[in-house]
This record gives sequence, structure tokens and C-alpha cells, in this order.
Amino acid sequence: MPAALRVTLWNEYVHEQLVEQVRQIYPQGMHAVWAESLKRQLGNDVTIHTATLDEPEHGLTDEVLAQTDVLTWWGHAAHERVSDAVVDRVQKRVWQGMGLVALHSAHNSKIFKKLMGTSCMLRWREAAEKERVWIVNPSHPIVAGFTEECFELPNVEMYGEFFDIPTPDELFTISWFEGGEVFRSGCTWRRGKGKVVYFSPGHETFPIYYDPNIQRILAGCVRFAAPTGGTYHGEGRNIPAPLAPIEAEHVVDESLHRAK
Ligand code: ZN
Repeated sequence: MPAALRVTLWNEYVHEQLVEQVRQIYPQGMHAVWAESLKRQLGNDVTIHTATLDEPEHGLTDEVLAQTDVLTWWGHAAHERVSDAVVDRVQKRVWQGMGLVALHSAHNSKIFKKLMGTSCMLRWREAAEKERVWIVNPSHPIVAGFTEECFELPNVEMYGEFFDIPTPDELFTISWFEGGEVFRSGCTWRRGKGKVVYFSPGHETFPIYYDPNIQRILAGCVRFAAPTGGTYHGEGRNIPAPLAPIEAEHVVDESLHRAK
């Protein structure tokens, strides 16, 4: 039996404590709802750990990250309070193979912007409007098992194009909004050996993470972002000529590079 996937659910956990409307929807925080949903869907295939902003090192110590296969990230009100040292640490783990699933307003988190290298900004509106999420890649493992072409969320915050991201390796959903905008709401990239996923529905003032379709996709994101493949060799290393099968007459003086 394969080892259980080790998932760390990171939640900024600010709105739930400060805003009554959000507290009523998520009394134990959004991370409690994600944890319950993932455990129910994936059972013994996962072990779940949660971490929040106010913990020492935001709950993302070297030890925690070393034991994390997939990290999910939700943040909105306090992106700037996330320490750069922790962001660097997470980036390095992604390069080494840890999956990162960025949710909703994590598009503007330090870690997502650092991994993308663009502004990651978008058009938005809070008008409790309808969102129609279209499955645009039915063969994608994140949406495995979906029989519908699309599903609707009755009340959302609109996130629309232009979304300033590098062109995704793959799209799995595109969303349409009642106000007319469209949005690349489900995207994947590779960074180093790691997989990065962005999935946009998840505004805190609506019960979006209780929606069964959203819960299925979240489980799909976590499963997809699991580390796969071989060992990461991206640290950069020099291979001296005597260690390579090169005939001596072809070997150039390496000091010529350094002399510039
Ligand atoms: Zn929002």
C-alpha cells in the first residue's frame, strides 16, 4: 500500500476571527472545512495537518515542510505579514517536488507571485453574483469523475480577466460570471520538480467550500499536486572535466569563463 499523502492546509485565518459574517460560515476556520472534506473523500490516502499565520514561523517550519507533500494556501488580508524567509523556504520545497495549491485570493500571496514571476493581479467585483464553472479539460486528473460540463455557484466574488499570470501549462476550468466577465479559474504549472495549482472559487463571505463540486475539485487538486517522478537535481553543480568522459584534447581552460 502506498504511503499516505501528507497534506498541510495553510490558512491565513484572519477573517474568520475578525468578521462575524465569516465566523458564522466557518466557525473553526476554513481549514477545518477543508480538512473534514479531504478526510471524508480521500480517507486513509491522506494525513492532514493544518497551519495558520499566527503560529511561530506561520506553522511552516523546516520540519513541517519536510513532512509535507502538498501545501494548500489561502490568504487575503495579511499577505504582507507572511515572512520572506518562510516564502523562500516554501519556494525551495516546491522546486524539490512539494505541490502547492493556491486558493482564491492566494493569487496575490507572496509565494504565488514569487513562483509565477508576474503581478498575478486581476479584475474583481463583490456583488454576490452567479459563477458558472466550465470543465474545459475533461481528461485532466483534477476533474476525474465529473460528468457535468459545468456547475454553478449562486453567490461569489467575481474574479475576471485579464489575470496577469504566465500562460498555464494546463487549464482545467474557465469561469463565466453573471456580470459578463470570464476567468481562467483552474490552472496548473510546473516549477522545478513541483506542481503548482491555482483554483479561484473560495471567497470568505459565501459558503463556497461546503459546495460538493468545489470539495471534489479541491480533493482533485491535492491529489494531482502530489510529488511524482524522479529526484530533483536543480541545485546547480559543476562537473569537473576529469569526471566526464571527455578526451583531454577537447577540454578547454575553464578559467576563461571566469576571466570575463
Ligand atoms: Zn475574496
